[in-house]
Amino acid sequence: MATPFLQAISINKTYPGERFAGLRKTSLSIHPKNITAIIGESGSGKSTLLKLLYGLLSPDEGEVQFNGERIWGPEEKLIPGHDHMKMVTQDTDGLNIYAKVWDNIAGLMPNTDVAAKKERTQQVLKQLNILHLADKQACYLSGGEKQRVAIARALITRPEVLLLDEPFNQVDTSFREGLQQDIRQIVEETGLTVIMVSHDPAEALSMADELIVLKDGEILEAGHPQSLYQNPQHLYTARLLTNCNVLSSADAKHYGIRSKAEHIVIYPEWAIITSSWTRKNWMVKQVLFKGSYEDLVVEKRSVTLRLLNSKPGKYAAGDKVHLKVKKYLEF
Ligand code: ADP
Ligand code: MG
Repeated sequence: MATPFLQAISINKTYPGERFAGLRKTSLSIHPKNITAIIGESGSGKSTLLKLLYGLLSPDEGEVQFNGERIWGPEEKLIPGHDHMKMVTQDTDGLNIYAKVWDNIAGLMPNTDVAAKKERTQQVLKQLNILHLADKQACYLSGGEKQRVAIARALITRPEVLLLDEPFNQVDTSFREGLQQDIRQIVEETGLTVIMVSHDPAEALSMADELIVLKDGEILEAGHPQSLYQNPQHLYTARLLTNCNVLSSADAKHYGIRSKAEHIVIYPEWAIITSSWTRKNWMVKQVLFKGSYEDLVVEKRSVTLRLLNSKPGKYAAGDKVHLKVKKYLEF
């Protein structure tokens, strides 16, 4: 059997305190040349897991291995963090704001081969679409541009693994998508392995090849984004990935759903307005315009459902409609 690329074997990490905090008996194997996204509520242990994988923290028990070798913790290394990995977080403090973008990036390469240094710097600037900013002083950059420079600095020395801890939080939505696409492309072109923590479901779903769901310091479930989205095994996962409707089985009964489960989950796109002349027993309460689509809040017997309408302008508050629920989940 081939040696696993990067794996955690039964790692435990407990922070001192009255309530449990940290990571419990966690095992996982990271696929090389893929993007793995770690998602979970705030405080679920995402950053802790990332730091343990990188070697910024040592586990209390168990170990992390990179290509079959145990990763050294911060007390065993002069410069904490594995030499073949780089980590980028929200803070771009590592940047020298008085220096030009070019020098911020090129400065991390040795001077032994000046031609190679120039070529590599140019390559990384191109990969991150910041070649036009090369001569700009870092203090004049926008948040999104600074984040691109931070990632370029991480990639210049060709790490095998790039760890991202919610690095796009400060970046405008419009810039974020471009940056997400560029990282995907770098992974496809160079075979880089990316492990990212994200709390944005759209980001995790669109970027990741593999999703890992953390809850209270434990892995709850893991899998491909599509299957985890369509068939989560836990309500917690559904809630993380979508703004879903959660009904009690008593409420769901009014809508023809018979189930003994405690919670019935209906995603906004699973409730569809159908044409019917007779049984229009739902009332549109609110129409929330979102540009290319609308969120409709509909109500029946004081139970509300939020659903997706891809044809804005078709319905108004007060309209009576007929609804069909084409899929639901039981928990
Ligand atoms: P996440 O990144 O998912 O928000 P973290 O991994 O940062 O979560 O933290 C997990 C839990 O451990 C939280 O309850 C947090 O308060 C606690 N924690 C994190 N770092 C420390 C620390 N250095 N000392 C004590 N508790 C910590
Ligand atoms: Mg965190």
